[in-house]
Amino acid sequence: MGWFTRGSSRSYDSMSETATLIGYFTKKVVGYIVLNRKCNMCDHGHSKEDHDCRLNFVGSAKAMEPKAAVLLSKGNAILEKCKLELGIVIADNDSSSICAMKEALGYQLVKQADKNHTSKGVLSGLFELKKRKKYKELTNVAIEYLRKNFDYCVSQNKGDAKQMAVAIANIPLHCFNHHNDCGSWCGYKIDPTNYKHKVIGDGFYDEDLFLDLKQFFSDLSEKTHQFSAGVSSNSNESTNAVIVSKAPKSRLYGKSFSGDARVARAISKKNNGEIFTADVAKKLTLSPGRNALKYSSRVDTHHYRRKNKAATRAFKLSRILLKKAKKALRHKNEAVEGTTYGSDVGLLTSLHETIPVRQIRENLDPVIVYFDLETGGLSKSADILQIAVKYKNYTFQVYVHPTKKFLLKLVKFMD
Ligand SMILES: [Zn+2]
Ligand SMILES: [Zn+2]
Repeated sequence: MGWFTRGSSRSYDSMSETATLIGYFTKKVVGYIVLNRKCNMCDHGHSKEDHDCRLNFVGSAKAMEPKAAVLLSKGNAILEKCKLELGIVIADNDSSSICAMKEALGYQLVKQADKNHTSKGVLSGLFELKKRKKYKELTNVAIEYLRKNFDYCVSQNKGDAKQMAVAIANIPLHCFNHHNDCGSWCGYKIDPTNYKHKVIGDGFYDEDLFLDLKQFFSDLSEKTHQFSAGVSSNSNESTNAVIVSKAPKSRLYGKSFSGDARVARAISKKNNGEIFTADVAKKLTLSPGRNALKYSSRVDTHHYRRKNKAATRAFKLSRILLKKAKKALRHKNEAVEGTTYGSDVGLLTSLHETIPVRQIRENLDPVIVYFDLETGGLSKSADILQIAVKYKNYTFQVYVHPTKKFLLKLVKFMD
């Protein structure tokens, strides 16, 4: 089940919403619906009868999701034709639609949470803990490490809720160096003397943090039945991406036929590829042009090639490495550049607050200014990497782009 909301982010006040029902194995859309809270013609004073009215939902934006879920699941033409009933629904964790579907269908549905959304939920839960308790050991890197541990538990115990629960509950124990319940994956079991955690080194020590993490992961382990299938709703994301490409969120197309036509085009492309345009032409008794066919075929070939390549292990690994390299470059650049962008940075922060030199000159009292240099080595030719100055409450510091490989020089000096 997928939702595509046009509106300003999660403000839940969108005028138009598209919901799709996608088969897990076929990855094809078996039902979609567009709900519109406004109609252009009605807004211009026309009566509902004299035009093809687009207004098909009255109520708040929040109520659109459950309504669309019911309309998609009850009386779904494709499911009825194939004599199928909905059994398992994969959705994110913030939707109330499953309850509405259960009520409308009159039987129990099994809900499985999307693994990516669950993983993001774990991440935000840990950041919330960090914000609340300000644990020194719970750094951003440590949080990412804990999230990775959680993802690992989910993927390694896919389909086994009990075993998954045991593995998740063991995460804090492993991080606090209690390895009794760890499996053969734990490096400590292989080399207890030299074992160090990959990211958090010697592990965590704060006892209060241990209690909090234990509670956090214990709560998660009690809910493994909700995400034990380890499935993702990626097809939903890709469908939404196609819809956005045809009907950009920045414009409200849902007030006219344009919106429905654009969504229909996106769904046809998702299900059948770009070649669907030829089928539409044939249905309209038009013969598709040679160039149009050539174009559709080229677009589809390119798409399937890229899709197959993206599914390979080598591609996934290179994507992870590229992401890491990009992140490292960003951190390096940001450290050198200082604060250049942030919410209300120009309004609330006084940038480049430097020492008032003129004021110091006019004041004849002795002035003590502390300064410190960080250099790339101890030789005369070593680069200055950072300059910092402090006078009373004024501070100034700047990073300098190094021109030499200072680490190499330092090692040579130490040799
Ligand atoms: Zn209307
Ligand atoms: Zn362990």
